[in-house]
Amino acid sequence: MIVEPSPAKTHQMIRDARRRGLTIGCVPTMGALHEGHVSLIRQAKSECDFVVATIFVNPTQFGPNEDFSKYPRTLEADLEMCREAGASLVFTPQTTDMYSPDTETIVRVTKLSTVLEGAHRPGHFDGVTTVVSKLFLITDPDKAYFGQKDFQQQLIIRRMVTDLNFPVQIVTCPIIRESDGLAMSSRNRYLSPDERRTAAQLYQALMLGEKLAKETTLSPPEISARMQAHLESAGGIQVQYVVLADTSSLETLTARTAPQAVGLIAARVGTTRLIDNLVISL
Ligand code: AMP
Repeated sequence: MIVEPSPAKTHQMIRDARRRGLTIGCVPTMGALHEGHVSLIRQAKSECDFVVATIFVNPTQFGPNEDFSKYPRTLEADLEMCREAGASLVFTPQTTDMYSPDTETIVRVTKLSTVLEGAHRPGHFDGVTTVVSKLFLITDPDKAYFGQKDFQQQLIIRRMVTDLNFPVQIVTCPIIRESDGLAMSSRNRYLSPDERRTAAQLYQALMLGEKLAKETTLSPPEISARMQAHLESAGGIQVQYVVLADTSSLETLTARTAPQAVGLIAARVGTTRLIDNLVISL
């Protein structure tokens, strides 16, 4: 496995692999890897000859009051996980390798980026789409792998790839969870033992939504209200949003007008902001 911080050298190595007839899979990450990331690399390895994992804590997707400076950085352990999962190359640029001080260009998905996560984290998705565009241009993959964990992110990336004719196929991989249902996240390590126990209620609320959709005739807003009440009754959870939304447009559903919905939750447990989601049949 090669570890390479230079965009130009990474591009060259991938071009050489392509010339040898290999298919390229790309797995963008911010490091602090866990089994969720590993599942993406493994899936890439099962479908592509040459897998590039990227590790870059992208400053432009963090707001001024967010956790950029304290975001966990665990490069040695990350590289070991990439190696075990079957990556061929790990691209590990520094901020200065990715952004010159004169940078002016951004890539923006105008509508999908403004709701839900976009409304709570202004500018976040501009940072994501800009850096993912750059990663696609540097790594020129046939396929790129994203987690359903960041449901809105994978929709926005799909929109961008269609709109800008990026010659890459986006693959969305299932959410990997802890045994109590908490979605794995690099940010879970910020949780105290008490908060960690409380955090499992996000998944419980999603399961409640699924059960109510199946067993009652409640409308989507009635279901999300029950989910919110569940979270608030747990104590120690500050809900930012709970919605049942259309799985493509992310518009909040007011009635059972689609065969399925995505239940989306964002909440703070202590000072840690967590998100989770579940696709629910209606
Ligand atoms: P991040 O390092 O948080 O930017 O995540 C990198 C990629 O891993 C994104 O596509 C995430 O959606 C994906 N990911 C993060 N957590 C999980 C998880 N628990 N299960 C599956 N994919 C995940």
